[in-house]
Amino acid sequence: MMQGYKVENIDCFCFQYTQCTNERCKFQHRENCKDSSETCVDWFRYRKCRNKKCPKKHLSHEVMVAYFLCKAEEKANHCTQRNCPMYHEKARQFFECGIIPPNSVPMVPTTRRQKMVDLAIRENPKVQNFVLSGYLFLDKVRLFIANCVRERKLPQDKGRNYFKEILHTILFCGSINNPIIEPRSFFGKEEEFEQLSAKYPDVFQKYNNHLPKRPPFTVLLDAVVEIVGRRNIDEVLKCLLELSEQMIVESTDAKGSKCRNIFVSTVINYCYFQDLHIPNDKTDNYFGASVSCKGRQQAEIMIDIMCCQTWHQKISLAVCVGNWYKNQIILFPPAVHSVAYNIIFTREQPSESPPNNQLEQAVDVPGGAQKTNSLEKNITLRQRAFLNTRHPCERCLTMFPDVIYHPSPEYHEHPYWEYGNCAECESLSQLLHAHPDIVRRLTYYVQRTTLQYPTEHIELPEGLILRKLRRLVDNLRSVGFNVGDNLFFYDPSHTDSTALEIYQH
Ligand SMILES: [Zn+2]
Ligand SMILES: [Zn+2]
Ligand SMILES: [Zn+2]
Ligand SMILES: [Zn+2]
Repeated sequence: MMQGYKVENIDCFCFQYTQCTNERCKFQHRENCKDSSETCVDWFRYRKCRNKKCPKKHLSHEVMVAYFLCKAEEKANHCTQRNCPMYHEKARQFFECGIIPPNSVPMVPTTRRQKMVDLAIRENPKVQNFVLSGYLFLDKVRLFIANCVRERKLPQDKGRNYFKEILHTILFCGSINNPIIEPRSFFGKEEEFEQLSAKYPDVFQKYNNHLPKRPPFTVLLDAVVEIVGRRNIDEVLKCLLELSEQMIVESTDAKGSKCRNIFVSTVINYCYFQDLHIPNDKTDNYFGASVSCKGRQQAEIMIDIMCCQTWHQKISLAVCVGNWYKNQIILFPPAVHSVAYNIIFTREQPSESPPNNQLEQAVDVPGGAQKTNSLEKNITLRQRAFLNTRHPCERCLTMFPDVIYHPSPEYHEHPYWEYGNCAECESLSQLLHAHPDIVRRLTYYVQRTTLQYPTEHIELPEGLILRKLRRLVDNLRSVGFNVGDNLFFYDPSHTDSTALEIYQH
């Protein structure tokens, strides 16, 4: 049911907290962790733990909701059985004994992780790739934004804010990576690091205690849209492709034709609303990019951040519903159109190459990333970025079934990614943020059988987003992020940061 977890490696909630009467129970029954109130970190991070004598629980809030949530609470919104052995997220009230609080949940302990200190880690290809990706992304974005400000296509303060937001997000991603990648690592020269940290001190003070609101590519997309204009679809896409090409992390593997920059998204899309009944009534175009984040937990963190803080609440709900209530869907008024593309990279064949090889210049290996391998210099095949139209995935068809997709859905790709990973969530959220009139016309449907019945007053269960928040906090703790009573979000315009209380009861 849940990706990655094996039922035999999950503790039986009933056995742990009361008793299990199911003779054919498939979950593990372990005595030695009954007293523990902590989640096993290995099990939480890697979704398995081989230690037979492990003293910590193999249970988390997310898993308890998926496997042990009381059916009465889920269906009827409250459980009337006092001795119910299942998991309850809500408090229950009884005449005889008053209020029984929600079941306790084992805590994911905050872990300390390895810092990138020794050379061995520095030379790890994954770490190198991460560092190069961040370096290239920051370097190209800075040049791009500086040019646009110089050419008066973007006001200076806006340009600065876009750059600060991207810088903060990339430093944050480094700080939640395992091993931790320190801000210093992303800069080629020491002076560069000193300069930036003197210029934008708040970024360097807040990257490891304030959360970003969106991934770096989404911020860049936003900047490009502002510079080029919502109406100029081709220009927006072209500009993004050019930037993506510059951010390619070159490798010695001659066969590969990938971007390899972990911060560059693989999918971009745009959507718009065109009222069926009013001809020529078409909204602007709203753009989105898929979540680009290295690591399962890190991607979950980014998606949950957007669910709790960034996206329009209806989109966040659709993502939650996709996760937990597959029989309920949100419908848009007719009709929202969505167009999606894969960004693909192909290696250009060496043409009748010019004698003094100009192509070599295109291979931009940054001076800063200790890459002076002679193999690198011999790469003469330049990679090009292209767009390929993309069918919607099964997740999007579940969440937004009445959107008109271009190209129309053909086959159902079986997604291995999370609900919320897709570019569509971001663009649809922007559409809703900009058009309250469309929000007012949203409806919910409940799928009872294969037939759909419209129902007017479907209440989506409260607290769905709270579940996301719980997972966010669990994940942040487990990657060693400093979680206090509130989560703070970074605001590049340097006014007061926004705080989100972790558990509002
Ligand atoms: Zn059991
Ligand atoms: Zn364990
Ligand atoms: Zn119950
Ligand atoms: Zn999708």
